[in-house]
Amino acid sequence: MPRRKQFRKVSKEPLISIFKPAGIPAKELDEIFITVDEFEAVRLADFEGMNQREASDVMHVSQPTFNRILTSARKKIAETIVRGIVLRIEGGEYVLPCDVRVFECKDCGTTIDAPLGEPRPKTCTQCDSDTLFRKKQLKADEE
Ligand SMILES: [Zn+2]
Repeated sequence: MPRRKQFRKVSKEPLISIFKPAGIPAKELDEIFITVDEFEAVRLADFEGMNQREASDVMHVSQPTFNRILTSARKKIAETIVRGIVLRIEGGEYVLPCDVRVFECKDCGTTIDAPLGEPRPKTCTQCDSDTLFRKKQLKADEE
């Protein structure tokens, strides 16, 4: 069976998606982009104070992947404030809680996330049971 594509869970999109130094027209400034999943990594690790194991679980990625996302985001944010340039937060590979359906295996209790638009999972990823049932939708502030 083909491996399911991994997707990164983001609790919510950033309130502000562009940061610009005051008093200088944007057209005179360089820009740097961070993706919404990079923003989420910084939010979880540096704002919420989670360790990387907790944060990688929340984002549904491996710890090395989380570390890579976080390192990249921190480097770009540092470059923004050191060079005094524009920071934009946009794009990236991520899903929001409202985009995810959650199924639970009746036999072993494993939960399986499936983004909207992808086929419903047929068997459990842990025990191959086919008795999956849909759990209620995650709310944005539940995690
Ligand atoms: Zn199972």
